[in-house]
Amino acid sequence: MSKNVVIVGGGFAGISAAQKLASSDVNITIIDKTNHHLFQPLLYQVATAALSPGDIAMPIRAIFRRQKNVEVVLGEVTNIDKEQQSVQLKNGHSYPFDYLILAPGAQYNYFGHDEWEKHAPGLKSISDALDIRERILLSLEQAEQIADPKERQPYLTYVVIGGGPTGVEMAGSIAEIAKRSMMRDFRNIKPDETKIYLVEAADGILNAFEEPLSKKGQKTLEDMGVEVLLNTPVKDIRKNGVQIEGRFIETPNIVWGAGVVASPLIKRLEVETDRIGRAVVNPDLSIGDHSNIFVAGDAAHAKDKDGNPLPGLAPVALQQGKYLGELIKNELKGRSRKDFEYVDKGTMATIGRAKAVADVRGFKFSGFFAWILWGLIHIFFLIGFRNRFRVFAEWIWHYMTFKRGVRLIAKKDEES
Ligand SMILES: Cc1cc2nc3c(=O)[nH]c(=O)nc-3n(C[C@H](O)[C@H](O)[C@H](O)COP(=O)(O)OP(=O)(O)OC[C@H]3O[C@@H](n4cnc5c(N)ncnc54)[C@H](O)[C@@H]3O)c2cc1C
Repeated sequence: MSKNVVIVGGGFAGISAAQKLASSDVNITIIDKTNHHLFQPLLYQVATAALSPGDIAMPIRAIFRRQKNVEVVLGEVTNIDKEQQSVQLKNGHSYPFDYLILAPGAQYNYFGHDEWEKHAPGLKSISDALDIRERILLSLEQAEQIADPKERQPYLTYVVIGGGPTGVEMAGSIAEIAKRSMMRDFRNIKPDETKIYLVEAADGILNAFEEPLSKKGQKTLEDMGVEVLLNTPVKDIRKNGVQIEGRFIETPNIVWGAGVVASPLIKRLEVETDRIGRAVVNPDLSIGDHSNIFVAGDAAHAKDKDGNPLPGLAPVALQQGKYLGELIKNELKGRSRKDFEYVDKGTMATIGRAKAVADVRGFKFSGFFAWILWGLIHIFFLIGFRNRFRVFAEWIWHYMTFKRGVRLIAKKDEES
């Protein structure tokens, strides 16, 4: 009888594992609490009105339309029974497995201040991105209607918390909107009135990059008009602003990008976890002595060949998913397992139009060439020809016209 492979999470790890098993005689069930696979590295472009949600997300059913051994289930997994070999969903359904791949990703960490989330949303889902986009657009509309420059200042102020790639991309993109592209359409606001702060608790930004590149990233952001506040832990976040040491920055526009924790589902596994809640996995990504239960992607703490933990990046999740698909395929043919080995092909971050930093196998570069390479790689890894074509066309359009196309405000209520 065919084996049941249950995959929790239709992100980079889950999708690539299922695709690798396309030609195998197994029944695959992919369970995700959303109906789409999301290309998170481009979410900030939805939040800053450069791309539409449909450009970077694809229904999971559509991805597997032709792969007959896959069943897609929309539902949230709430428990895992390791002994009975089944997963339970919130709606009470359960799915038995012979092999389980858990790839539920991560979520933002507010370091014990969950109450900050409603004022400073993180960028993790399509609805987060649309929420942030509406805040930015509504804020500009409000500023346009206030005659006194002092009174309108908070509406023209943006605070991004966290100097990792997401925070840097977000701050750079807001600077482009607020200092240039959208301002032409507002009659009363001057581009130099806008203030963008990137707040970071550590003494540098882009810490995953070595010194010349992280400094270069900071300088590029500053040249674009972003004020980078280093060694600045956030003390409090309220509806109308951010409290830092000795100063309150008044603004309704706050974005959180300051750290992640693994999906809470990992706790249900009752295995060893690291300080950010990731399951500590064996070299073949299985957990403890359960050789048929694996954790992959952002939810896994796996090590590289020098014993250092692998970062929460899309290529790590993709390679782990492919590896697990291959492992199951081989095992069903009676072949033995090999350990997972991550191939690091480089790290990149974009800062704005024609500006990026890249470290590709020790070759460090920045500027226009890094940005082109960043763009090509992101287009290549997007799922679906239509999405690739549309994103490419949108980028060419922005590059030539400086215009942001997706600027509709859908829900204008009192609270927003
Ligand atoms: C804004 C942002 C920008 C990023 N930029 C980059 C970048 O430039 N380069 C890079 O390499 N990486 C980047 N990353 C990181 C990268 O996106 C992640 O490393 C990658 O998505 C991890 O893949 P994954 O498969 O582990 O999880 P995910 O892609 O997060 O997928 C997890 C899936 O599991 C589902 N799920 C979660 N819990 C449950 C549950 N209980 N039941 C059912 N389904 C569940 C979710 O709905 C989701 O579809 C970025 C991340 C973010 C948020």
